[in-house]
Amino acid sequence: MKTFTVDENCIACDACTIEAPGFFSMDENEGLAFVSNQPKNDSEEKICNEALEACPVEAISFTES
Ligand code: SF4
Repeated sequence: MKTFTVDENCIACDACTIEAPGFFSMDENEGLAFVSNQPKNDSEEKICNEALEACPVEAISFTES
């Protein structure tokens, strides 16, 4: 299962929070998205992958465990 993270390249465009609202949220103070929930099954992981692909600046990455 993948563990997703958002790095400082985030431009707060909200693409990931729209694509995967249960998993990505916006920290309005920091101006960065963050992962509020990690996926726990394949269908959730697919949603998070779609958020990763939607990110215009490749600020979302993952590690696999
Ligand atoms: S899609 Fe990328 S740039 Fe946009 S808010 Fe999410 S992490 Fe940030």
